[in-house]
Amino acid sequence: MAKKKQDYEIFEITLVKKQQLSPSFMRLTFGADEVKYLQAYAPDQWVKLIFPKIAGEGVRVPDGVTPYDYYRSLPEEIRPDIRNYTIRYLRPEANEVDVDFVLHGAEGPASAWAIEAEIGAKIFIMAQCEFPDHRAEDLPEIGSFVWSPPTGAQEILLMADETALPAAIGILEQLSALEKPPKVTAYFEVPYEEDCLPTPIWSDLNLQYLPRNVGAWAVGAQLIAAAHLVAIPEIVENAEKQVNDEIPEDEIVWQRADAADDSKFYAWIAGETSAMRTIRLTLTKQRGLNKQLLNFMGYWRKDELH
Ligand SMILES: Cc1cc2nc3c(=O)[nH]c(=O)nc-3n(C[C@H](O)[C@H](O)[C@H](O)COP(=O)(O)OP(=O)(O)OC[C@H]3O[C@@H](n4cnc5c(N)ncnc54)[C@H](O)[C@@H]3O)c2cc1C
Repeated sequence: MAKKKQDYEIFEITLVKKQQLSPSFMRLTFGADEVKYLQAYAPDQWVKLIFPKIAGEGVRVPDGVTPYDYYRSLPEEIRPDIRNYTIRYLRPEANEVDVDFVLHGAEGPASAWAIEAEIGAKIFIMAQCEFPDHRAEDLPEIGSFVWSPPTGAQEILLMADETALPAAIGILEQLSALEKPPKVTAYFEVPYEEDCLPTPIWSDLNLQYLPRNVGAWAVGAQLIAAAHLVAIPEIVENAEKQVNDEIPEDEIVWQRADAADDSKFYAWIAGETSAMRTIRLTLTKQRGLNKQLLNFMGYWRKDELH
């Protein structure tokens, strides 16, 4: 069988449906013929959405230049805004992809677009694709996803704020479909009580939604508190504590687990960057969890203007 070309492609997508899921979540469905080539290798598969400043301008990348080099070279007036989003559902047979946007106001171009856009509006997507015509040298070394639990994982810790909730619920959906879903402890922080979106449930799932409006909590504060309290499973209790392992303030927090296939424990933790930095220190330095079992992803930065 011929190998398939796997690559990152940029193509235009059209908004075909908007669905308000809760006060903070809007599901946007996009369509395009090329969507059938999109790949979601894992529930946290992400894409880059490209919001042109002038419709259709500055998005077609010339041959021989990486998209980043090309975009960086453009004058600011026409340089598109580019943001990461998770593939929530992919329906290749219908050429449709769903993305759940957090509506956090009009100050961010992506959030503003999601609020304002009307059916028929167009943006661009840069995403991992598989095409029938192949060139083996095009195979990417690593995909745009992190979730890759060891086959032997018996206990899983999930922590997510609202930006990581689409991926985290996708992970629960995947686990719930297993013949014997593992034991999962999950903490999901959301802006409002009404944002506690439905998830699959099973007897070994201990899920706590942490709405910030109940008690006027700051962003990340309840996830940080949960990191101090979460029961460390006996199977990893004796991991060595790690010291001198802080991520400097100006560095992104993006740490992939490197768990052995027979590891019993695995964690996927994503949300606001400074909260992720604190939770990482809490779980490794103070609680003694082996960092090789933990994924930490800073999905956004509070008060950062691009
Ligand atoms: C791998 C990955 C997957 C992601 N998946 C999703 C997803 O499926 N859905 C989703 O909504 N987000 C997702 N995000 C997060 C999203 O990329 C960021 O929130 C992004 O900053 C939003 O862009 P913006 O243009 O709206 O705001 P920006 O221009 O980036 O920021 C403008 C201002 O808004 C603030 N801000 C940004 N995001 C938020 C927020 N969520 N709440 C409150 N204030 C905010 C910033 O601090 C800044 O002050 C993902 C991020 C990563 C890295």
